[in-house]
Amino acid sequence: MKVLVVGGGGREHAIVWALSKSPKVTQLYCAPGNGGIAALAECVPIKATDVEAMVNWAVKNAMDFVVVAPDDPLALGMVDALEAAGIPAFGPRANAAVIEASKVFSKHLMTKYHIPTAKYQAFTELDAALDYIRREGAPIVVKADGLALGKGVVVAQTVSEAEEAARAMMADGKFGAAGARVVVEECMTGPEVTVLCFSDGEHLVPMPSSRDHKRVFDGDSGPNTGGMGAISPAPGYTPVLAAQCMEEIFLPTIAALKAEGRPFQGVLYFGLMLTPQGPKVVEYNARFGDPECQAVLSLLESDLMDIFLACRAGTLDQADIRWRDGSACCLVLASGGYPAKYQTGYPISGLDQAGETATVFHAGTRRAENGAILTSGGRVLGVTAVGDTLASAIDSAYRSASHVSFQDMHFRTDIGRTF
Ligand code: AMP
Repeated sequence: MKVLVVGGGGREHAIVWALSKSPKVTQLYCAPGNGGIAALAECVPIKATDVEAMVNWAVKNAMDFVVVAPDDPLALGMVDALEAAGIPAFGPRANAAVIEASKVFSKHLMTKYHIPTAKYQAFTELDAALDYIRREGAPIVVKADGLALGKGVVVAQTVSEAEEAARAMMADGKFGAAGARVVVEECMTGPEVTVLCFSDGEHLVPMPSSRDHKRVFDGDSGPNTGGMGAISPAPGYTPVLAAQCMEEIFLPTIAALKAEGRPFQGVLYFGLMLTPQGPKVVEYNARFGDPECQAVLSLLESDLMDIFLACRAGTLDQADIRWRDGSACCLVLASGGYPAKYQTGYPISGLDQAGETATVFHAGTRRAENGAILTSGGRVLGVTAVGDTLASAIDSAYRSASHVSFQDMHFRTDIGRTF
């Protein structure tokens, strides 16, 4: 099969890496890809959000299957457009991807179908939102409705911080149209766990749980990033909790989407908080998380292409999905300054040596004409190791990463160790 993966970060490198092991996949393409993906797939210079160009290229080059990995093209209806052009695609259609693209939609869905989540109200008028914030008091959480690059959530410790966040989103247009509507919700407490699930619209299979680290500095301090590392499985997510989440959250969500005429095929990401009242949904994503994907797919023993095909065919209940015992750790090596301003174009050394004991997924790299790998983004690499225990996976990721260097390289020293 000729398979195209849409996207160009660490997540897409992990998907390409897993697909490259499938006997069914004979030719792999990635658009736009990156410097590391280029070793496994032919990179196609089309932006992940350019639906028309992507579909035209896939038709012209007779792709047998397309995997749409990032949130934006899913929300823009890339899967719908590919299927309309006769090309089988993996990922939810736009009417199901809205579970991530609109927090107002997802909160309404959870309320309607009694799926546990924080108490909330949605607002289109600033004054009404401010009144609600003052009435409820702090701590309180203010969220932009739409996609905001993971930056549209403010967990406010004071009423004035919450008021300021609502004003920035609703009056000052901080996130453009994405912030015209906001959700204001109760602040929950407890450890966070991510569970990615495969779904064919009817059946659902959870992958091993995971936990990511969003803050840029050790001890979960500093600003939020796209993710500085992840481990899988997440400590504390017991089989009892997993069974409870399956019954109260995962299956009801898939059933709710189906009942609404929005069957979800693809990877559904459940961001959960294990509160004193039980597990509750913090957020849904309509795709693999990054860097959780890198850690979780490192544990997959079966053929990812077969699973993708089963999701699309509605036969996920019969699919062979096996995971190795043990744990995985993905350690992100970032450009100094990220998530604010940073420089790119620096040569990276030590990749081969690191690759002897870990899988080095590229996120923000490019290949220079002379073949050298250069930094090209904020998050540069995800050094991902597996081990029989969580401690050994973490040690192995750090030891492998110690071979890598580039100017101003920054990483956290406590991935998997601080919660
Ligand atoms: P989201 O983009 O909705 O996942 O929010 C980003 C982060 O904000 C989450 O991973 C949580 O750490 C935090 N957060 C979101 N909603 C809440 C809430 N209701 N209570 C406490 N923390 C929250």
